[in-house]
Amino acid sequence: ATANIGVIGLAAMGSNLARNLAHHGNTVALYNRHYDRTEKLMAEHGSEGKFVPSKTVEEFVASLSKPRTAIIMVKAGAPTDAVINELADAMEPGDIIVDGGNSYFMDTIRREKDIRARGFHYVGCGVSGGEEGALNGPSMMPGGTEESWQTLGPILKSIAAVAEGEPCVTHIGENGAGHFVKMVHNGIEYADMQLIAESYDLMRRGLGLDPGEIADVFGQWNTTELNSYLIEITAEVLHQTDAKTGKPLVDLIVDHAGMKGTGTWTVQTALSLAIPVTGIAEAVFARGLSSQAEQREEAAKQQLTGPSGSLDIPADEREAFIEDIRHALYASKIVAYAQGFDEINAGAKEYDWKIDLAAVARIWRGGCIIRAQFLNVVSDAFESGEANVSLLFAPYFKTAIEEAQESWRRVVARAATYGIPVPAFSSSLSYYDGLRSKRLPAALIQGQRDFFGAHTYGRVDASGAFHTLWAEDGRPEIEA
Ligand code: NDP
Repeated sequence: ATANIGVIGLAAMGSNLARNLAHHGNTVALYNRHYDRTEKLMAEHGSEGKFVPSKTVEEFVASLSKPRTAIIMVKAGAPTDAVINELADAMEPGDIIVDGGNSYFMDTIRREKDIRARGFHYVGCGVSGGEEGALNGPSMMPGGTEESWQTLGPILKSIAAVAEGEPCVTHIGENGAGHFVKMVHNGIEYADMQLIAESYDLMRRGLGLDPGEIADVFGQWNTTELNSYLIEITAEVLHQTDAKTGKPLVDLIVDHAGMKGTGTWTVQTALSLAIPVTGIAEAVFARGLSSQAEQREEAAKQQLTGPSGSLDIPADEREAFIEDIRHALYASKIVAYAQGFDEINAGAKEYDWKIDLAAVARIWRGGCIIRAQFLNVVSDAFESGEANVSLLFAPYFKTAIEEAQESWRRVVARAATYGIPVPAFSSSLSYYDGLRSKRLPAALIQGQRDFFGAHTYGRVDASGAFHTLWAEDGRPEIEA
């Protein structure tokens, strides 16, 4: 037994993670169901560090020193269950099984329980940053026991991205906490991307700018509080011209956005926790609408009527409107993050995790897809307690929204008037207005619910639950 850590599953993510581990002085046991991937990794990168390749799970387990620690990087779902079982059959109590795939957190809760009952430690660990991050430093969100963190922590810290001198990994909480937080990270990523896409659409169709000009706008925005990986790559994507035709590549890409499920899980989970994550939900729905090819083709054929999408902004007001869009993007982004953190908070309550939100914001500052300057202020807001109730109440963000607000409203109003869809901008603004409304029309809804279902209502001027006998003469009210 010579390896201090092993990786099972050597596709894009697993092989890069294994290399990253080896680059940092670990001796890495390797196993993949089909040996050709292992061979390829050894042939191409075997000289980069110490690897111990195996052809069987048994050999792989035997090559690990105790407590044996193996990271699984295979397809989420049934393949992960299959690999866990194979590993557990070959390992001994006290060993640590880590799932670094994008597993659904409820699966992780279930697996952790099963595996713990067999005497193993089980760590569901969210890994973000894609292939590049896995190789050069991902942001990692491990769950599991404190005891397994003692062994795993130093290894993960050695390979994580570094932001402001700190490794982008922290023990998130027990069992499924890590995968839960990774799920919400991806949900926020969906919202971030949708907000950027809406900004692009407003400039492209709304103002008639070409992709290169818009790329420059994003490049400039990247020097502001919007500075982030996603804004940076947006500029690059928009600058790209197609080698064959010389046209902007973005114009040749089919406008159907795909998804693999983590955004949907974030929204489904938020629904079951009754936490409004409107920005994330609209982002998931917008991808859904984009991919409804049949309905969109039919809509084009039927020429559904409405404004053309040109925002009709005079040339000398264009620059000011672009500034408005930037403010709208920033305000909506703050709302999306506030909502995402609300979901993490609610998840922590529901599943009994102690999650340090400031630490979560800190480990998202590097390595992951949503890495951004902005997360420094987010972590400060949680650290100081200013964001205890909502990120929106931390003075920094409260002021930011106050300053962005007029722009935000102008953009949403103009987009609605001239026919550009801005589901994430407008739902974020509605959420903000809903939150700050002293009185909501929910009073009417309670009246309706009591009318048809005797669901009762509370009164503003008395405590207790009341029911009105709506069908009786004089509609008497009774205390329920
Ligand atoms: P894939 O999700 O494409 O999975 C391929 C790997 O899974 C191969 O090693 C394959 O083995 C193995 N596998 C599939 N089915 C089984 C099975 N029944 N038994 C044993 N092994 C099986 O690989 P990725 O590298 O893209 O992703 C790995 C994990 O990391 C996934 O959970 C993914 O969601 C997650 N992830 C991916 C990111 C990305 O950017 N790609 C980012 C963050 C997380 P074989 O070669 O034998 O077919």
